[in-house]
Amino acid sequence: MAIPATMKAIVVEEFGKPMVLKNVPVPSPGYGQVLVKVITSGVCHTDLHVRDGDWHVKPTLPIIPGHEGAGVVVKLGEGVTTLKIGDRVGHAWLHDSCGGCDYCLSGWETVCGDQHQTGFAANGCFAEYTVAEANYVGRIPDNVSFAQASPLLCAGVTTYKALKETEAKAGQWVAILGACGGLGHVGCQYAQVMGLKVCAIDFGEDKRCYALDGLKCDAYVDVKGKSSQEVVEAVKAACDGVGPHGSIILAPKPEAFRQGLDMLRPMGFAVGVSLPPGEFPVDIFTLILQRKTLRGSIVGTRKDLNESLILAAGGKITCTVEERKMEDINQIFDDMVHGKIKGRCVLRIAPDP
Ligand code: NAD
Ligand code: ZN
Ligand code: ZN
Repeated sequence: MAIPATMKAIVVEEFGKPMVLKNVPVPSPGYGQVLVKVITSGVCHTDLHVRDGDWHVKPTLPIIPGHEGAGVVVKLGEGVTTLKIGDRVGHAWLHDSCGGCDYCLSGWETVCGDQHQTGFAANGCFAEYTVAEANYVGRIPDNVSFAQASPLLCAGVTTYKALKETEAKAGQWVAILGACGGLGHVGCQYAQVMGLKVCAIDFGEDKRCYALDGLKCDAYVDVKGKSSQEVVEAVKAACDGVGPHGSIILAPKPEAFRQGLDMLRPMGFAVGVSLPPGEFPVDIFTLILQRKTLRGSIVGTRKDLNESLILAAGGKITCTVEERKMEDINQIFDDMVHGKIKGRCVLRIAPDP
């Protein structure tokens, strides 16, 4: 396949400003890397944080965001033995890690201190081509379309991992804060595959029907107009009157963290995933006397990624995908800010091969 010299890419040139669609050189894969022709690219809320530069750590600009890139290997760099031209792969958030520290050696490369992140520290997938590390791509099963695979590459693996981190067992309750968003809507489905009962929590009555009928959750709590205390009481009432065994906090709002911890029954685990800038208070007495646990969770390892893709290939995870054009990126972020997206917007970058 002929590889052009330039490609279309969406670039953050200035924080907080509209992103720019422009022509840039097609990158060349180095040692151990592959060039991937991107077919579809999911738009994660993290890309919005990247555009806005609202974290204390910021990417060096200009940067091409995007870490849900599904596509095909079109060129191998030197030394690549594990992939071949034509392989269907996903370029996810974890671009690479050192491979030699205690965390990498124990299968926790996601917390390696010497890692790069796709669309943050390395150019990402809002482009016609992207360079990925051969040993870090996800394998997209043949029966999962590129558009369906894209959201799984971040939203899917992240929620799959976070649910495991709640340590909730089949038959138990898990609360999902931000259940109808990109992460949440796949999280609800992974939870059900794991045999968990799901209390979906999101903003607005318009999401109730989607959560209960579309995503088949067991309960829905609308946070709109409620105080944090009222949210917590409503969730406890929905979950046997005592609260869920676990919660995963996906809503990008600091108050969701306190709620996610307060709503738990004793012994419960709250898993923080969303990344709003800020802090939140913890009530020390309930944390200790009810032996609750709060932990964070960052995406998933390469093993988690491939597990989550294989589970999806079983046919029980269907992403709600709205396909959009690269030109629409600034409008997509506007819709995201206003909570108008159900599921995930996926950029259609090239037709399916
Ligand atoms: P999204 O915008 O698609 O979804 C967020 C959802 O939260 C929406 O449905 C919105 O209506 C809902 N919401 C807003 N306020 C709420 C509230 N107070 N209570 C309950 N629900 C509320 O975003 P996303 O792509 O799902 O990402 C969510 C967050 O997770 C972002 O901060 C993102 O950066 C972060 N993230 C973290 C990881 C990780 O590995 N830790 C991975 C991916 C994304
Ligand atoms: Zn993401
Ligand atoms: Zn490491």
